[in-house]
Amino acid sequence: MNKDDCIFCKIVKKEIPASIVFEDEELLAFKDINPIDKVHLLIIPKEHIENLFSCEKKHKELLSKMLLLAPKLAKENGLEGFRVMINSGEKGGQEVFHIHFHVYGGSEKIAKI
Ligand code: 5GP
Ligand code: ZN
Repeated sequence: MNKDDCIFCKIVKKEIPASIVFEDEELLAFKDINPIDKVHLLIIPKEHIENLFSCEKKHKELLSKMLLLAPKLAKENGLEGFRVMINSGEKGGQEVFHIHFHVYGGSEKIAKI
C-alpha cells in the first residue's frame, strides 16, 4: 500500500473522520474504530512509516515520543494499567501499513491477541 491510499494518512489529513484524542506536529492519537477493550487508542506518527521493519536510527526520537505518549493518554482516559501492542508485517497481524501503537485496557482481564 502506498501512502496515497493509506487510511491513516487520510486521517492525518482529516480526509476521513476519527475520534482524535491527541495531536501535535509529529503525532496523532485516536480511538480505534473496532475496540478490543474499554479503551483502545492508536498512536501514529504523521509521517507515513510502514512498520517497525521500516524504522531506522533516525526514527528513534519519534518512536520514543510515541511510547512516552502512551502512559499519558492511558491516564487521561482513566486507565490504571494498559498494554501497548505493535503489529509488524502481515505475519505479525498488521492490517494497516502505517505504523501504529495500540494502547488499550480497562476491562477486568486485559485482552490478549
Ligand atoms: P493492525 O492489525 O494493523 O495492527 O491494526 C489496525 C487497527 O486499525 C485495527 O485495530 C482497526 O480496528 C483499526 N482501524 C482500521 N481502520 C480504521 C479507521 O478507519 N479508523 C479507525 N479509527 N481505526 C481503524
Ligand atoms: Zn500512511
